[in-house]
Amino acid sequence: MQASGLSSATVSNVISDLINDGMVAEAGSVDSDGGRPRTLLRVRSEYGSVVGVDIGETHVQVGLFDCTLNTLDTATYPLGGTELDPDRVVELVTRGITAVTASLGPVSLLGVGVGVPGAVMPDGLVHAPTLNWAGVPLVSMLRSSVAAPVYVDNCARTLGQAEMWRGAGRDASRAVIALLGVGVGAAVATGSDSCRSATSTTAEWGHTVVRVGGAACRCGSHGCLEAYIGAEAILSRYGRPLSASDTESRMAELARLPDRDARRVVEETAEYLGIGIANLVNMLNPDKVVLSGWVSAVLGPVVLPAVRDTVKRHALPYLFAQTEIELGRLGNEEVALGAATLPVLRLLATGGRA
Ligand SMILES: [Zn+2]
Repeated sequence: MQASGLSSATVSNVISDLINDGMVAEAGSVDSDGGRPRTLLRVRSEYGSVVGVDIGETHVQVGLFDCTLNTLDTATYPLGGTELDPDRVVELVTRGITAVTASLGPVSLLGVGVGVPGAVMPDGLVHAPTLNWAGVPLVSMLRSSVAAPVYVDNCARTLGQAEMWRGAGRDASRAVIALLGVGVGAAVATGSDSCRSATSTTAEWGHTVVRVGGAACRCGSHGCLEAYIGAEAILSRYGRPLSASDTESRMAELARLPDRDARRVVEETAEYLGIGIANLVNMLNPDKVVLSGWVSAVLGPVVLPAVRDTVKRHALPYLFAQTEIELGRLGNEEVALGAATLPVLRLLATGGRA
């Protein structure tokens, strides 16, 4: 009540509306100092379900979540390098939604959130260099093939939201969520308002320059961070053939290899990642940096001590002292979960009414 700034009568009216709508329920009571016992409330997870879709460079993953964001089901479809055709991606998304919602029964689907590794323009066009998409009308394509309301946003931004709601960013007041995959992005999340964490994308973090006259980047520049810590950059720096066929498995293979060249590539990756994070720390003064994305899941546990050491050497000491660097805690469907925050955010904004 204090956080909302509303009177007790107004809060009571809103709560009884939400209980009548079936969105929240009473969950016992606790004593308050001297006054009437306070009633505890919980969001009813059975109120409805949401779908989150991760359109990544290596797969399309569709997750079904209850409205408190517990995972109910997922469907994952690997993407080959030649399959990033928007029509093919939309077909996989609709197939995944059909698969995960097949057992839903009478529970309503409240909405579908979609995270993309690129920028979503106000007119619904998506620019995603890592997918080779320039001005793809993804929002209208999805809306014409999905029956539920569809919301599309940048996947680093939505992942940042999920990390602030229920991941490593929960207790942070300002967190930077780094998304490490084929592309490299970041989101800045501010947790001062716990139910509506404002996130902003710094998707271009991967294209900040970390080396003069450095490696060519697909953006056309040279020496970009992504040209050193993007998944394909890491694998091509190793240069030797690996036995696994897909990018994610080859990265896992590289992380396990004992040979000196593999160790060197992993150490260099930690050094460049640490420099990229030190720049963020010096510019943004976050109290937490969270490493997420599938490259972080594979390499993170191996490189984290070296990354912290590099940040310590390059960030200003008084800023470094205030910054924790952690691995994400949301697991394999983190990006889909992040996308699922979009319909939940909409639900909160509209007081539970569709
Ligand atoms: Zn670049």
